Formats: sequence, C-alpha cells, structure tokens
Amino acid sequence: MAWTQKILRVNLTQGRCVAEALNMQWAKQYLGQRGLASKYLYEEIDPGIDALSPDNKLIMATGPLTGTMAATGGRYSVITKSPLTGTIACSNSGGFIGAEIKNAGWDMIIFEGRAENPVYLYLENERAELLAADELWGKSVWETDAQLHKKYQDPLLRIATIGRAAEQGCLYAAVINDLHRAAGRSGVGTVMASKNLKAVAVRGTLGVGNIRDFPAFMQATEAGKKILAEGPVTSVGLPTYGTQVLMNVINEVGAMPTRNMQDVQFEGAEQISGEAMHQRRPSDNHPNLTTNAACFGCTIACGRISTIDHGHFSIENKPEYWKASGGLEYEAAWALGSDLGVDDLDALTYANFICNEDGLDPITFGSTLAAAMELYKLGVIDDSITGGIDLTFGSAQALVKCVELTAKGEGFGKQLGLGSKRLCDKFGHPELSMTVKGQEFPAYDPRAIQGMGLAYATSNRGACHLRGYSVSSEVLGVPEKTDPLTTEGKPALVKAFQDATAAVDSSGLCVFTTFSWTLKDIAPQIAAACEGEWSEESLLEMGERIWNLERQFNKAAGISGKDDTLPKRLLKDAAKTGPAKGRVNDLHKMLPEYYQLRGWSREGVPTPETLARLGV
Ligand code: SF4
Repeated sequence: MAWTQKILRVNLTQGRCVAEALNMQWAKQYLGQRGLASKYLYEEIDPGIDALSPDNKLIMATGPLTGTMAATGGRYSVITKSPLTGTIACSNSGGFIGAEIKNAGWDMIIFEGRAENPVYLYLENERAELLAADELWGKSVWETDAQLHKKYQDPLLRIATIGRAAEQGCLYAAVINDLHRAAGRSGVGTVMASKNLKAVAVRGTLGVGNIRDFPAFMQATEAGKKILAEGPVTSVGLPTYGTQVLMNVINEVGAMPTRNMQDVQFEGAEQISGEAMHQRRPSDNHPNLTTNAACFGCTIACGRISTIDHGHFSIENKPEYWKASGGLEYEAAWALGSDLGVDDLDALTYANFICNEDGLDPITFGSTLAAAMELYKLGVIDDSITGGIDLTFGSAQALVKCVELTAKGEGFGKQLGLGSKRLCDKFGHPELSMTVKGQEFPAYDPRAIQGMGLAYATSNRGACHLRGYSVSSEVLGVPEKTDPLTTEGKPALVKAFQDATAAVDSSGLCVFTTFSWTLKDIAPQIAAACEGEWSEESLLEMGERIWNLERQFNKAAGISGKDDTLPKRLLKDAAKTGPAKGRVNDLHKMLPEYYQLRGWSREGVPTPETLARLGV
C-alpha cells in the first residue's frame, strides 16, 4: 500500500512521542505529503491562531512514493501555518531525510505544543526520543549536523535542523536537511524554532515493503525512468546546468525581475548563469561548479555543488568556506543576483552558502534586501539605519554583509529578517514590497509571462513559482507552447498547473519530473503502489480538492479574494525593455474567469456546491 499507515505524534509540551494509525480515509482522498498533511492541519488547528503560538502544529510528511524505487521518490514536506503570511504553509524538500523517515516506518511526524527547553527528536525506526538540545541551540545548521553525526557516529543518520536565523526570529527561516536541501519558503523554520525544536535526526532501516503490486510498480517506474532519460530537460538541461539553465532563457524573454522588479532584464545575467558556473574563473582557473548531485532515488540530478575562489573577498581567510557545498539554483541566483543588480557569481554562491548554513529562504532574503536597496536609493533609509552599510544596487559587499547579519539576527539584519512587507510598511512605502499575501516573488516577471501573474495572485501560500508553473508552457513549451504575452486561455492553464502540481506534491515525487512526465506517467506508479483508484483524472481532481482545502484554511485565517492581487508596480508600471516592453500584467482580465473555472463566487469564495463535489 506504500503508506506505512503510521503517524508519529510528538507532544513537545508533555515530552511524549506516541504512534497512531494513519487516517486511511483521508489518505485515499489526499494521498500524502502536501495534501494529506494539509488535511490534518486543517482539522487539528484553528487557522486563526498566532502561527508562533504553541497551538500551531508542524508536520513533516512523506508521500506514498517517498522512499520507494520511483525516480525522485525522496521528497518530504513541512506543513504548518506561516508566520510570514498567515496562510497555510507547505515547503517541499529533497535530499535524503524524507526517504529516511519513511524507511523508519512513518508516513508523517506531527509536532505539537512547545518544549520548555530546546530539544531534538532522535528517531530510529520505532524508537523515538526527545533529547535535550541546549548544546545545539545557538549553533548553525552545519555545526548542528556535525555535532549530531559525531554523537551517533552514523554517517547514514539524516538530519533536518534549523539554524540561527530561525532562533533569532527571522520570519522566513527554513528547515535545512542534509546540509543544503531546504524546506525553504514561508518561515516553516521559524515555527520549528518557536516550538524549541532544534533538529530531527532519523535513521530508518525497515524499508518500504508494502507496495500493492510490486511487478506492476517496477514496470511503471522503469517506464517513467525511460521517459526522464529521453526528455531533453530532464536528461540534459537539468543535469548539466541545474535550474540555472533558466537564467539566460528568462532574461531573453524579458521576464527577469531586476533591481526590486524595476526592470525586466539584467545586464549581468550571463555572468551569473548556469553556463557561467561551468566556466573556469580567470582568478584561480577553477569553475564555480564542482559537480552535480542527486537527491534520494533521483535519475535527474539537478543539484549544484560549488566551490568559491579561495581568494574571493567573501571567504578570504575563512577556510571553513573553502570546501565544496550546495551551489546556486536559479531562484537563489536571481534573488541574490539580478534582483539586487549583483553580478559577482562567487558573492552569490557565498550568500547561498550562508542561507544554507543558518537556514534562510534566499528568495525572501534577496527580495527583502532588494526592497531595502530601493528604500536606500530613494533616501528613505540611510547609513544610520543600515549601520553604515552602503546599500547601493549592485553592491556585492552589501549582499555579503547583509546575509551574514540576517543569518545571525544582528544589526540591520534583524530588520531584514522581517521580510519586505513589514520592512516597507515600517518605512512608509508598502508599494515597494514585491509580495503577494506577504510572501516575496520568485524569478519570473509577470509582465512578460501573463499566466504567472495569475498564478502568483491566487497562490495559497503567497507569491510562489511552485504552486502553478505556467512558465513551463508559456516559455519552455512544455507540455505545449502558449504565448506568454496573451491572457487568453491562461485561467484554464494556470488552474490545470495548480491542480496537477498539488497532486505531484502529495505523491513523494519531485515536481521537476513534470518537465518530461504528465500525470499520465505518474498515475500508473501511484496506482501500482497504493490501494485506491488512481488515474490521471482522479489525481487532477485530488489536486483540485487540495487547492480548495488550502483556500478554506486561508479563508478561516482571514484571507480573502481581496488578497488575490499583485503589487501596483506590476499592474501599472510597464516593462521598459524586452519582448514585453510597454506591457503590465493584465490580472483583471484573467481573475474572473479563473474564479468561474474553479467554481468559486465572484469574490473568490469556494461555493458549497464546489466543496460538496470535491468532498472538502
Ligand atoms: S530533480 Fe533535482 S531537486 Fe528534484 S529530486 Fe532530482 S536532484 Fe532533487
């Protein structure tokens, strides 16, 4: 059945770990990971609570294919209420810990309450212990990982932990697993810190043995692997360049948000691209990219492992950063580079190392610094506020200094840790925060990719590319090409991407497979592994159910159709260059049709009929 049918419930207030049966009725409706954990969260907490109160819960959830032989079957998600946005939060990560949780015999771990003193969870198959973490508190992700590995002397121990950013109250802190894989967005790490939970260390040796029809499963997963091996993006583009394959492509179509989204093309894009990561640096004759890397069970291997020039100003005399570590993926390269006007690849890589070392979401950090740079340019803030840091756009020095301060919650970094919405509100310029529902944009300007404007505005966790990646069709032509500059057909396209993505995010598979797979390729893998009726259609319907459930959570948290909007800059200020020159995002042309297609009222509220049809 692929599910282990077991949940570990960890009450941090009482210091108790208890096993309980998975609700199989919900599993058949919501599959796993994002969908199933959202259902648990929705049923178990009041969405109106303070996200950082002990009443919030934090769920680490696998999907039914996590830990199996399916390609990319190593994903897990962290689900909670976000302290950054007040919405439902669900951040997905790869690496190895998801598969380890599953191999230890658990579908998910639900953390509730708050420990009196810092603790970590040690989980070895059915043995679950909460142990004192006083010596780990105040330590970075990398130090925590090293200390726990030293203590247990087990190289296969998998660790997810928060760093100093979360402890210091940064509202967009991540949970980092396996040193540099991140459940990065929406501040899930901040919630973990609020529970005094420093880390989760897992060792699982039980295997995932209960596949419903093993021969059929092997056949379906082999067929899937063949498709990935033949698809140009999954066999060449991603392994060679990682997601950084996008940098030059997106810049070319004029959708590269630059200098806090004032511009749509970045003159330094080539210097920070995937191609540039391969080139030997003149300074030390080594390339930035050391190797690519794969998460558990992945046949794509899009991960980047990078090395910074030892003489670069950011790490000169800091040998602890001379080793190879997690390198730039596209969103981070954009947020730490183009959005700040910085084209120093090594500085970006260093900032990315720090985001991993102390658990920061590089997208929100970069976007918040971009907003601060614009406030600085306008003279709204000055050196007396920044602590003497010159925040001129393009300054690699400012990037390096600010990421260090934010990671430790010191000086001006304390203010950057609030995110751009709170920062811009504080200084009287809310219009400079490039956010939806309080969460910062990723790396696609919706003036040049119209569908992405709708995807951002309606995303249930605030601006996000991973909730409905219409870029795939509008720019890359997958599964079929649509015109990025037209709004026609985009409501249906965005809805289809959103529902399909919710299904993939609930399976245990990586969404990057969808550059080659459709739900037609995924459905046989799930059907062979899991009890129940799993087809392309039923998965799509399940995705729609998840989308509506998340919407209901947000509605109960006080978020409404009024929040389905974009910053004025994207609706009023036309793109200055590129193919979209003269265009704004025409959200108003898409939103009513989108609501209609979803079966929602004109105000964006799911109707009773829609909820009944989906069984929400
Ligand atoms: S495609 Fe990339 S992110 Fe996805 S599982 Fe593979 S290595 Fe990890």
